[in-house]
Amino acid sequence: MAKIPFPTRRVTRARALEELSILERTYPHAVTALDYRNPYELLIAVILSAQCTDARVNLTTPALFAKYPTPHALARAKQHDVEAIVKSCGFYRMKAKNIISAARDLDERHDGVVPREREALEALAGVGRKTANVVMSVAFEEAAFAVDTHVFRVAHRLGLTLGTTPRRVEEDVTKLVPEAKWRFAHHWLILHGRALCKAPTPLCSRCPVAEICPTPPIIAKMNRARASGKR
Ligand code: SF4
Repeated sequence: MAKIPFPTRRVTRARALEELSILERTYPHAVTALDYRNPYELLIAVILSAQCTDARVNLTTPALFAKYPTPHALARAKQHDVEAIVKSCGFYRMKAKNIISAARDLDERHDGVVPREREALEALAGVGRKTANVVMSVAFEEAAFAVDTHVFRVAHRLGLTLGTTPRRVEEDVTKLVPEAKWRFAHHWLILHGRALCKAPTPLCSRCPVAEICPTPPIIAKMNRARASGKR
């Protein structure tokens, strides 16, 4: 199927709230799929998860943390040793460099403790707003809403945003959700993106939001145009 365009108009606030309420009921126990035992492990796992599945990261991190159980240990690791462990996560040279640098920052500037504050997190090597949001919300239960590729796609398909940047999507969705639920809303959208609202083809016929989502009519229109030979 050709790429499905995102809706060009946002749904009404009432409809957006209804969509989010359905997702909340559908994914009531939404938690991260990344395995971790402490904020350090979560931070490293999130950095490794860029352009990679959480399942793949979970297969990689046990060996990594067995060898480098603390920021102090990872900060002193040899780049090629770390590359060998994280190779299957993709972009392994850059990721190995970033996690060693982040560990060095933690060790030298934060006594080996992952900071809770956004500014301090984003100052760590390899840590951008999305990673900081995940660490804040998952490790420290702070009000933060991370926008990854699933969240970006699902928020658009639901008509919650027209934002062209993750930051804009974050702003639009957080205006719809009480602050206390931001950290859960992130998981509602991710889980829905993985389970049903897949890229490139969403499984709308099985979706609990389908009746009020603006995307099925767009798909139907595309199918009608294809059937009639129009492009
Ligand atoms: S109806 Fe389709 S496009 Fe809309 S949220 Fe569900 S799966 Fe995604």
